[in-house]
Amino acid sequence: MYSCAKCPGQSLVRIERGSGLSFACPECRGQMIGIGVLRQLLPKPVVNTLWQTAIRSPDSGTAHCPGCTMAMQTFMTPVPGGTLTLDVCKRCCLIWFDDQELEALSRPEPTEKELSPESKVAMAKFQVEWERQQIENRPIGTGQGWEAFLYWLKMPSTGC
Ligand SMILES: [Zn+2]
Ligand SMILES: [Zn+2]
Repeated sequence: MYSCAKCPGQSLVRIERGSGLSFACPECRGQMIGIGVLRQLLPKPVVNTLWQTAIRSPDSGTAHCPGCTMAMQTFMTPVPGGTLTLDVCKRCCLIWFDDQELEALSRPEPTEKELSPESKVAMAKFQVEWERQQIENRPIGTGQGWEAFLYWLKMPSTGC
């Protein structure tokens, strides 16, 4: 049985979804969803962007993966009207959603034109922040910062 990423000692309950399983915490209403199931719950571009962001996340958070119990990584992803901070386990290929976070992602994605000025600012800030992190995390002169940036632009698929 899996334990909640956020509530010590709390077991997760199985939720049958049409296309697969997820596990939710009755206490905090957080939810653990594998990337494979997520791909069937959300539009493909949303999941791809989410996962690309997740696998580049360098920050260890306080949540522990229900699957392997290791510290999960936190990452930010832009959503209509703001940003979400989510937790990911790259080993288990799963993402932890706190209450309402999955709902925030499930909302229909506005097209570029429909984005509010606030969302555009949030997305721009997010990208600047991401680039800054890449530069800070890597020694200058190796070219890796730029490689990572180009990698980011190309949005390659992953093994998950
Ligand atoms: Zn919980
Ligand atoms: Zn894990």
